[in-house]
Amino acid sequence: MIDSFIPLIYLGAAISFILALKWLSAVPTARRGVIVGITGMALAVGGTLLRPEIVSYRWIAAAFVAGTVIGVPMAMMPMTAVPQRTALSHAFGALAAALVGTAEYYLRAPRIDRFTMGALSLEVLLGYLTFTASLMAFGKLQEILPTRPITYRHQNVFNLSLFGIAAACGAYLVARPGAAWAFPVLAALALAFGVLLVIPIGGADMPTLISLLNSYAGLSAAAMGFVLDNKLLIIAGALDGSSGFILSVIMCRAMNRSFTNVLFGAFGKVVEGAVAAQENRVVRSATPEEAAGILQASSRVIVVPGYGMAVAQAQHKVRELYDILAKAGVDVRFAIHPVAGRMPGHMNVLLAEANIPYDRLMEMDEVNSEFPQADVALVIGANDVTNPAARNDRSSPIYGMPILDVDKARAVLVIKRSMSPGFSGIDNELYYMDRTLMVFGDAKAVVGSMVKELAGAR
Ligand code: NAP
Repeated sequence: MIDSFIPLIYLGAAISFILALKWLSAVPTARRGVIVGITGMALAVGGTLLRPEIVSYRWIAAAFVAGTVIGVPMAMMPMTAVPQRTALSHAFGALAAALVGTAEYYLRAPRIDRFTMGALSLEVLLGYLTFTASLMAFGKLQEILPTRPITYRHQNVFNLSLFGIAAACGAYLVARPGAAWAFPVLAALALAFGVLLVIPIGGADMPTLISLLNSYAGLSAAAMGFVLDNKLLIIAGALDGSSGFILSVIMCRAMNRSFTNVLFGAFGKVVEGAVAAQENRVVRSATPEEAAGILQASSRVIVVPGYGMAVAQAQHKVRELYDILAKAGVDVRFAIHPVAGRMPGHMNVLLAEANIPYDRLMEMDEVNSEFPQADVALVIGANDVTNPAARNDRSSPIYGMPILDVDKARAVLVIKRSMSPGFSGIDNELYYMDRTLMVFGDAKAVVGSMVKELAGAR
């Protein structure tokens, strides 16, 4: 009886996942997308728990408690740590898929048909490599491991050979599922490849890598669906795999990078002499009060938020500043770079949290033509996404990355704490321009002082 309900429950879950992805792609419907996604997952888990093959719930209950104990603190990690958190959840998801694959192999071998063995090899290969690669990505983002790319001679050839041998073991198992030696070799090489894959990739490319690993974990889960003959796993894995891949493509485009460049380009290596060359250069600075005076005298202001606004949690103060300026008749817009912050949509989420009207937010392509008419570009904790070197300096590691044309505004105010570089570790020409004034300090404190000054002047 219950058997005939399970496909219906799975169908409901699959529809929910598709709708969740659709609604998550736009800010006004994102909340609905989250709720539908959670509902879909609850249906998927609930439907699976009803399957008659389950004879005891004891181990499932133990896993549920363990997952909750790990998952709840992970969900409490701050917004700025979302990439690390995502890396950890991919690591766990991929490990789960790989362990299920391993258990299935030892339960069934050598009586496994070729198709199932092919899916199982793929599941284990992608699962184990995604597990170690995601842990490495977590370590780099959390700065437990060195964030700079570590390279050595013939690294790519070595890594690809290792991957080739692992894939060959998988293919051999398809031909001879009983070859018991090949399975642990496949698993060990996949684990090693995951570590070696991430070593030459710099911290700046970790979010793109994580979204690619998301895709691998999804494909591993889809392969698991074929092994276990579970259609919902195939659908959910395919959705996960393709959405992760699409997101990586969007991120690569926003940084003008190719996949091969992200995976093998060792982006973010220290360029010798680059920092020394910037010493002794003069910048002009202003106090928050002076900066407030400049904003008050303007009629068009474009605010450029970045990672520093997120770290300082300055979005609510920025909202207050927006309110005062808007009331005084100043036209204030927000320029959103697709990779500002540390995850796609980071700035949209923060500004939405502070209730800044959606219609004030402008994407990079539409806002860039507006900068020459802006009296002030107010940069709040953004750095790389405003660096003109991406346009002008062929030797720069970020050359070719599309940027916000902040340097074309009539005046530029930059709020940051020091002259430290941004995520890609390079200096920013913008700070040395005649039209630029640096307002040094924590973004929340500086914007707070500006708000106080403007409120007092009214
Ligand atoms: P950024 O280049 O990392 O610069 C952030 C700046 O914020 C720093 O220069 C820092 O300078 C300042 N800052 C830090 N804490 C602050 C505080 N409390 N108050 C004020 N300022 C503070 O940031 P971005 O311009 O947003 O660029 C994002 C970078 O991440 C790009 O390189 C992008 O390629 C990379 N990335 C992003 C994504 C994504 O999905 N969003 C994905 C991959 C890579 P001080 O230390 O001097 O204050």
